[in-house]
Amino acid sequence: MDFEALTISIYVLAGGTVLFSLVRFFIKPKICAVCGIETEDEYRDKDDKCVPLCKNHLIERWKEGVVSSPYTMAAIEPDFVKYPHAYLYATVARLKEWNYKKEDQDAVSAILDSVEGKMCNICGSRATVAYFNKEDFISPFFAKISAQPTFLCKGCFVKRVEQFLSDSSLDFGEGLYAPTNDKGVFHVQEFHAYSKIW
Ligand SMILES: [Zn+2]
Ligand SMILES: [Zn+2]
Repeated sequence: MDFEALTISIYVLAGGTVLFSLVRFFIKPKICAVCGIETEDEYRDKDDKCVPLCKNHLIERWKEGVVSSPYTMAAIEPDFVKYPHAYLYATVARLKEWNYKKEDQDAVSAILDSVEGKMCNICGSRATVAYFNKEDFISPFFAKISAQPTFLCKGCFVKRVEQFLSDSSLDFGEGLYAPTNDKGVFHVQEFHAYSKIW
């Protein structure tokens, strides 16, 4: 390599380094709010604020949020293969806002009401979750669910879902929701299907 080529190489290298630093400066990597490692995952908390968390802390925070929620929930087993975009929590008001049909909103209300007085199928304590298998739900048609739910307490519910979350290779960019301050349903959703369905 002659001197000129070497000089050019050094300039190119230096330029690349400067460019890389600039990109890093403007596009700051997300950092887990708990342990500080770089992450792509985000948790949407109950006030709709996105908090960057690494996967372990994301799952931990989600479990805490669900277990500490005093509200009744419905939940569809997450199928992250078929619906890889999100695991959302929606109150009936939010379903309305998201243009779910009235019959689907009513179906969710009826499912939530059905939890009253039931016992957890696994541990026998008071049930607060109506859980459906993924085969029972074709997004977004809650009104077409004909299966009976498995009634669970919050502890047994998070144990059941935790595995799907940790096995998933998703980054939950904005896709993992906390339960908000009301009854609601955890479900998967195929955003791009909206235009085809409605
Ligand atoms: Zn972390
Ligand atoms: Zn239980």
